[in-house]
Amino acid sequence: MSHLQFERWLLDSEGLSGEQQRALEAHLEACPRCRQMQAGMRGVEALFGTLDLPEPRPGFARRWEMRLDAYLRAERDRRYRRQVGLSLFVLLVAVVGLAVVFTLQLVGVTAAWVDVLVGALYRLFAVLSVLGAWQNLFSILWKAIGHWIPPVLWGSLFAMAGALSALWLGWLARWVTLSRRVSL
Ligand SMILES: [Zn+2]
Repeated sequence: MSHLQFERWLLDSEGLSGEQQRALEAHLEACPRCRQMQAGMRGVEALFGTLDLPEPRPGFARRWEMRLDAYLRAERDRRYRRQVGLSLFVLLVAVVGLAVVFTLQLVGVTAAWVDVLVGALYRLFAVLSVLGAWQNLFSILWKAIGHWIPPVLWGSLFAMAGALSALWLGWLARWVTLSRRVSL
């Protein structure tokens, strides 16, 4: 029998039958390699036996969960406060900036950069609203299409697209070889 079997038996010496136990002992007598492994395992077991692993006090798991829960809640609150603070800050900056710009315009101090800034702001808002409109349109279309077309039809559509791609690739390959032959 191979070393491997005896090594397995060494690792699981408690589930052995009497016959297996005897076979293992006989092998250990004859095999220095497995004897060495047994000695090493005994050393490790002895080491674990001497280690004074602290037992958790009763209720440890529950206390730990409570602490984790409190930590997560605090973290969520902190993130929420940070987001609100950041939003308020951005809003404040925008309001102050716009107020300054419009006051300057009202007073008649229309420096070139103010005009440029106002123009850029208007354009930015226009672009953003157009983008938002497109996005809304596409999401509505997507939802409607997803609602109307059953999964089976989706599958056949994809299969058709795949077949068309294969056809097109085949045609392309033929065209390339033909044109090469013509040019030769
Ligand atoms: Zn052996």
